[in-house]
Amino acid sequence: MEIIRDPLILQKLVLEKKSEGHSIGFVPTMGALHQGHISLVKKSCEENTLNIVSIFVNPTQFNQQEDFDNYPQTLDADLRILSDYPVDFIFCPNKESLYPDNYNYTVQEHNESQLLCGKSRPGHFQGVLTVVLKLLNIVQPTKAYFGEKDFQQLQLIKNMVAAFFIPTQIVSVPIVRDYAGLALSSRNQRLSPQGLEKAQLFAKILKDAADTTSAYKELESNHIQVDYLEEIHHRRFGAVVVDNVRLIDNVQI
Ligand code: AMP
Repeated sequence: MEIIRDPLILQKLVLEKKSEGHSIGFVPTMGALHQGHISLVKKSCEENTLNIVSIFVNPTQFNQQEDFDNYPQTLDADLRILSDYPVDFIFCPNKESLYPDNYNYTVQEHNESQLLCGKSRPGHFQGVLTVVLKLLNIVQPTKAYFGEKDFQQLQLIKNMVAAFFIPTQIVSVPIVRDYAGLALSSRNQRLSPQGLEKAQLFAKILKDAADTTSAYKELESNHIQVDYLEEIHHRRFGAVVVDNVRLIDNVQI
């Protein structure tokens, strides 16, 4: 397992490996790794002969400085976790190396990115799509793995890859949840014990409520602040704020 920080060095290395016949699996993350991330890593390692994980807390996708500042960063622990898996390269760029253009060039989607998280976090998906395009161009993976936890993001990335003819297969991975049904998230680390209970209740209400109106009422009566609750294409999406931490989830209905 080798740590690489320079995008151009990684790009050159991957091209060499590809010419040797390797299939490249890629898992982009923002670190603070948990079993949700690991399910992506495991799938990548099962399906590819060379595996790359990136760890980069992408500043351009945060629309609030405070949220970016509070995002957990646990690189040493992340590297220890990854050392249990046959991951070849960990890509840990810094902002300057990934944004030599100073974020003057961006990817903008004008339709689905305006809904759900895009509505409450202006500019979020522009940051996500831009960084993912950069990462895919650096790593040029055969397959890249994304979680259904961020379902809207997954759809937008699939559509971007099709729109720009990027020669990578996007593989989606089901949501990993805790014993109480809460979707694992790096942000869960920031919850108090009472906050964790509320977060678990959010997951339960999202799954079990008859419709979004009753889900809304139940969340409110449990003092859980709702950002949005919507049903689109047979899927229910929800975002809430607990302990000043924004949590998202989605379930098929
Ligand atoms: P993040 O580090 O939060 O940007 O997540 C990196 C990748 O892991 C994204 O593709 C997420 O959708 C995925 N992911 C995060 N949490 C989970 C989870 N609980 N289950 C499955 N995938 C997840």
